[in-house]
Amino acid sequence: MKEICFATNNAHKVAEVQAKIGSEIKIKTLKELGCTADIPETAPTLEGNALQKARYIWEHYHCDCFADDTGLEVEALGGAPGVHTARYAGDSKDNNANIEKLLHELGGQANRKASFRTIIALIEDGKETLFEGKVDGIITKERSGTEGFGYDPVFQPDGYDKTFAELPLSVKNSISHRGLAVEKLIAYLNKQ
Ligand code: IMP
Repeated sequence: MKEICFATNNAHKVAEVQAKIGSEIKIKTLKELGCTADIPETAPTLEGNALQKARYIWEHYHCDCFADDTGLEVEALGGAPGVHTARYAGDSKDNNANIEKLLHELGGQANRKASFRTIIALIEDGKETLFEGKVDGIITKERSGTEGFGYDPVFQPDGYDKTFAELPLSVKNSISHRGLAVEKLIAYLNKQ
């Protein structure tokens, strides 16, 4: 069976991606690879960060791998927090504080349009390929739901009256930024 390392420490993401990728390909975690480093992500773009993380694994472990980077782009905030999404409220990457800051910055703003955008960088035999997934929606005025992670309680995808945190994982996976990027990754891997 083909094995590929997903350069993330986020167990939610590994579960999301493994569910979508099925049993054809085994996702190897960083822990399984023996990597406990805090992989740097200091690039100014999502593309740069995804590549930086995948290159770190390739260079240190010479293992086929992919890494993702996601940004929440809020129209009324000029595309912020964007590449700073994880650390919006500070270096502790506190989800609660991030949501608090986002709701505060938006205040009573009527335009609540936002998108999640994911870039996946794949390195296979040293060859780099990028995939993009995007989902449009709105930032709700209050938190709802307990599923998922990150900004899920305040992101409502277009066409739904529930936040990501209220939708079952299977539904979120079928429409989410990362889900769409992963679909492109899988289609590419299956063609190899
Ligand atoms: P990362 O680049 O995937 O680590 O994500 C950057 C930031 O976006 C983190 O603060 C995550 O919590 C948030 N994020 C990424 N994916 C999702 C998602 O599917 N739902 C909610 N927040 C997310």
